[in-house]
Amino acid sequence: MAVRKVKDADLKNKRVLVRVDFNVPLKDGTVTDDTRIRAALPTLKHILDQPGTRLILMSHLGRPKDGPDPQFSLKPVAARLSELIGRPVKTADDCVGPVAEAAAGALSAGDILLLENVRFHKSETKNDPEFAAQLAKLGEVYVNDAFGSAHRAHASTEGVAHLLPAYAGLLIEKEVAFFEPVLKNPAKPFVAIIGGAKVSSKIAVLESLLPNCSTLVIGGGMSYTFLKAQGHQIGKSLVEDDYITTASGMLQAAREKGVEVVLPVDHSVASEFSEDAKPEPVDSVDIPAEKIGLDIGPRSIEKLRSIIAAARTVLWNGPMGVFEFDNFAKGTHEVARMVADCAGTTIVGGGDSVAAANKFGVAERIDHVSTGGGASLEFLEGKVLPGIKALEA
Ligand code: AMP
Repeated sequence: MAVRKVKDADLKNKRVLVRVDFNVPLKDGTVTDDTRIRAALPTLKHILDQPGTRLILMSHLGRPKDGPDPQFSLKPVAARLSELIGRPVKTADDCVGPVAEAAAGALSAGDILLLENVRFHKSETKNDPEFAAQLAKLGEVYVNDAFGSAHRAHASTEGVAHLLPAYAGLLIEKEVAFFEPVLKNPAKPFVAIIGGAKVSSKIAVLESLLPNCSTLVIGGGMSYTFLKAQGHQIGKSLVEDDYITTASGMLQAAREKGVEVVLPVDHSVASEFSEDAKPEPVDSVDIPAEKIGLDIGPRSIEKLRSIIAAARTVLWNGPMGVFEFDNFAKGTHEVARMVADCAGTTIVGGGDSVAAANKFGVAERIDHVSTGGGASLEFLEGKVLPGIKALEA
């Protein structure tokens, strides 16, 4: 997919309207995780480095239900951005209309304006052309750097791209540059490690990765549906009975394609699903009737070590167990370390494995930690992301 790139855009003396993903967590009016703001900095700096540019930023934040709502205001984000970029960041009380137009019109060269939350208008998520036209009025060039929102065809992510010269920012370019080869021609061995709660939310990704995979590692809550499909006892572990046939079909398809599927061979279980539950080792694939599998066991962990070390490409999406509970975090922690230690290209995509990589302090040693949860999943499913399609050359 070839997109128009911001580095090829003539930005000199232009008002540049940039869609960023500043949908960050806030607590008491302060940003508690600024990863997404930092991820946008290369694009923002590139634009500001061009002579005479004025930067107009727009984003959504949370899911405000009914118009403007102070708890979803982007003002605290402006304060954090200003600290990170080392320049003042102006704000406007709206993202369209006379207030926004006056604020954008008053900018001097090198100024930054962060508009108010685009989701304060219902027209945003409806991709209303009239609303997109109002946004487009504010700039002369449009840059989309909001990878985390690129799977949504909204006015600020898609509609506006048809109304101005439109380019992909450096973050979108980087995300695509890492994910696209995974789907097309990954350096092999390519090991995909897929975990998390549900088969239903990952099945499309599994199907899309299978043709290019050397080894498919399945862990976490979703692995019990696969184990049950193989005829194993899974006790009271998480299971999606509706997906047992699908899981069998996948295992069969993997066999036919010569893809090695690695499922847990032992477990850490408990009698209840709780933070304080006592972990008990189960040294077999089968789990006793009253027990719940909450993490992969030591033999499963060791089995992964040589597989991950030998990989030339690793994609990791989804934890190996309930890593939020310290007693059941070991499998995920060890996999995070193995991925970080792997000499091949390593990619972590999806909200919970990114949280795990951060929690276990390995994110810096991973080649690409995606900023898009839903967007990275849909990209890996092989879907066309509307926010990126609109930037195609
Ligand atoms: P997902 O959003 O599908 O990637 O799922 C992530 C969630 O899966 C995390 O909140 C984990 O706690 C949960 N999870 C992982 N392993 C298990 C398990 N064995 N049983 C229940 N939940 C699990």
